[in-house]
Amino acid sequence: MVMNRYLVIGSGLIGRLLSWRLIQAGHEVDILSSDDRLGSDSAGYVAAAMIAPSTEAISAEPQVKVLGERSLALWPKWLEALPEPVFYQANGTLVVAHSGDKAELQRYQRRAQHVLGAQSYSHLTAATLAEREPELADNFDEAMCFEREACMDNKQLFQVLGRVLGQACDWQQCEPIARLSEMVIASLTQQYFSQLLETYDAVIDCRGTGAKQDLNQLRGVRGEIIRVRAPDVSLKHAIRLMHPRYPLYLAPRPNHEYVLGATVLESDDRSAISVRSGLELMSALYSLHKGFGEARVIEMAAHCRPALANNMPIIKRQSWGYQLNGFYRHGYLFGPAMIEECVNRLMGHTDQLQFEQYYDGEE
Ligand SMILES: Cc1cc2nc3c(=O)[nH]c(=O)nc-3n(C[C@H](O)[C@H](O)[C@H](O)COP(=O)(O)OP(=O)(O)OC[C@H]3O[C@@H](n4cnc5c(N)ncnc54)[C@H](O)[C@@H]3O)c2cc1C
Repeated sequence: MVMNRYLVIGSGLIGRLLSWRLIQAGHEVDILSSDDRLGSDSAGYVAAAMIAPSTEAISAEPQVKVLGERSLALWPKWLEALPEPVFYQANGTLVVAHSGDKAELQRYQRRAQHVLGAQSYSHLTAATLAEREPELADNFDEAMCFEREACMDNKQLFQVLGRVLGQACDWQQCEPIARLSEMVIASLTQQYFSQLLETYDAVIDCRGTGAKQDLNQLRGVRGEIIRVRAPDVSLKHAIRLMHPRYPLYLAPRPNHEYVLGATVLESDDRSAISVRSGLELMSALYSLHKGFGEARVIEMAAHCRPALANNMPIIKRQSWGYQLNGFYRHGYLFGPAMIEECVNRLMGHTDQLQFEQYYDGEE
């Protein structure tokens, strides 16, 4: 096998995963990013990390399900190949609504039937909900149940990938790179890696919202979450709570920790979470389960999702390399599928490409 050398720019969710897959495939990778090793400047570090192809497709496009199902199949295999465990749970999602929001649930049900078909979920009555998720039974008398949907501990994933890549790659932290060009990249590779640009078989830009000046129509979509530790709560499923303004979901983490997200605000503002959003998220949490009343808030955070006009991801060919971007609310949902596609493209395995509609450019 030929060993290639790649330069990955950006070390958030997509940059980390791509670098790791390239190393797994036997190649050399240099990483250049303005982020720290933890990934604390990336959207992926803040995310709820739900992998929910069905419940996301219902409120977006059916094609979300196709990409998402591929990632759902890849995640367990990829996580198994890591040297340390990362919390991953695929117990499915329960969709619930308070009595005042029942109309939302009915709309969601109709849309599920229309987009995915009547078999895509099972309807839980008060009795079956009490069996499946007893701690929700006091507050809700029905639920939609989507099997197999998953969530993971994003911070654990970042830490493990950080350690693996720290050992396997030359990884340099730089000032934010506003614009990429052959000249800029050549000067960066000299400065940080003492390498000529020609040393690299390809450069892949994974700067998320940081690539705005190089990717037409890329925008930031603000999202806010809260993370709590709640010893009085033991929920086994991811929960989606109907809400008139946001798709709210609760993603379990180990040790009674839960992430509730996320607001969706058309704004590039990355400042701290607002009082209004904090109040809305906390009251949604308390309304879901009274045990959250004594929970401890361990994180309140905001970041911007990198989104294109159609909210779908893209592999874009540039004169100097490739851009892998536009993951919007779906970095965890689409990441493995798109990275597999990108790696196959880089390797010239054109017979294995599955998602050519997300490629923009000529080879
Ligand atoms: C609140 C919230 C909740 C979310 N929940 C989910 C979810 O449940 N499921 C899901 O699938 N997705 C979710 N997402 C979306 C997901 O986090 C993103 O789609 C994903 O992180 C995008 O990955 P990325 O690597 O492109 O960008 P990022 O993760 O933001 O990484 C970009 C990297 O590039 C670096 N960088 C940026 N600018 C520059 C520059 N100029 N020069 C050098 N380096 C730079 C950054 O420091 C960072 O390391 C959520 C996002 C948010 C904000």
